[in-house]
Amino acid sequence: MTATAPITEDVITIPRKLAVDGPVNLVGLSRDALRDLLISIGIPEKQGKMRCKQVWQWIYQKGVRDFADMTNLSKDIRANLAAKCVVAIPEVVTKQISGDGTRKYLVRIAGGHEVEIVYIPEKDRGTLCVSSQVGCTLTCSFCHTGTQRLVRNLTAAEIIGQVMVARDDLGEWPKLGVPNPPEARLLSNIVLMGMGEPLYNFDAVRDAMKIAMDPEGISLSRRRITLSTSGVVPGIARTAEEIGCMLAISFHATTDDVRSQLVPINKKWNIEALLQALRDYPSASNSERITFEYVMLKGINDSDEDARRLVGLIKGIPAKINLIPFNEWPGSPYQRSSNNRIRAFADIVFNAGYSSPVRKTRGEDIMAACGQLKSESERVRKTRPKTNLNTGLS
Ligand code: SAH
Ligand code: SF4
Repeated sequence: MTATAPITEDVITIPRKLAVDGPVNLVGLSRDALRDLLISIGIPEKQGKMRCKQVWQWIYQKGVRDFADMTNLSKDIRANLAAKCVVAIPEVVTKQISGDGTRKYLVRIAGGHEVEIVYIPEKDRGTLCVSSQVGCTLTCSFCHTGTQRLVRNLTAAEIIGQVMVARDDLGEWPKLGVPNPPEARLLSNIVLMGMGEPLYNFDAVRDAMKIAMDPEGISLSRRRITLSTSGVVPGIARTAEEIGCMLAISFHATTDDVRSQLVPINKKWNIEALLQALRDYPSASNSERITFEYVMLKGINDSDEDARRLVGLIKGIPAKINLIPFNEWPGSPYQRSSNNRIRAFADIVFNAGYSSPVRKTRGEDIMAACGQLKSESERVRKTRPKTNLNTGLS
């Protein structure tokens, strides 16, 4: 007897409702949603797919914002789009450039909120550190963003818009009619390591990264996108299934006691639950290793014993360990481990067979380093969670 075929349902994407009070932003819509929207404003259904592809390429391949410049669309379509839609990205408020070339942009989004984006240039490539939320619901005790309440989730438009802001500033949109330069891109990688916990804004992050990966647009390989999470266990499998990008875990400690102090979400999903999710991570392999981020805090998590425990814990998981010297911020309750301590820790990890790069601190002079981001326009969280770690400072 043959099994009954499962009932499948076509997913209907409802186009963003034409706002009564203003034009619709086309940025951040999935391809399907964009097509549906174009049809809803009067483009004949038969042309929907083709027009969608054309508009998509203008926006994400060529960086065009003005419908008048979308020259392969008829004048009527361009006028119709201009009347009902916009191509809008966050507005740059300030831009700072560090002595080492790192760029930090402060951008303004709807509601007057501000978000930081950091671009880190390297030889023949460059990484953009993108934010997923204004503030963060979590309160990791070593993180500047953690001192700020969650103000709101960013929309997909605001997330992919950060990439578009950086491409504007880097002048990386190809000239009209010239194909996208395939190699040596200035913006070659994205890391979701700015403000916020990406897995607590999953849908918008996914939609934005799908746009970043689309071959007819920004066209970044999924291997050049890394999502960093503090350990939201249920979101980990979804990341593999629905985004397929690389994964980084903010591990930071080798006992539940210490991890719960540093990364309080550990009280909800402890080290064992987190490791199990990583063992089950479908795309993890030697060529697609999971990054364990480990912030080096003097006297807290940086002993030889910690290093040995760390390699014991992650045994069997295809992993690399990224040691991050703690970046201080005004009022931060910890100190950075000494270079010698970091080196000794790295050696133990390396001798156990793991790559253990120490993350170079970039853009410190403009407060652009990992964990230093916080929009100054937002009020600081009044009460910090109590910490009983023996820092002598908290
Ligand atoms: N919320 C996500 C992503 C943003 S934080 C997460 O926690 O993973 C990006 C990385 O910077 C995380 O590994 C985080 O733990 C680390 N970080 C935060 N504050 C830091 C600081 N002051 N110094 C060094 N790294 C820090
Ligand atoms: Fe939020 Fe990540 Fe900072 Fe923790 S480390 S407070 S999860 S941004």
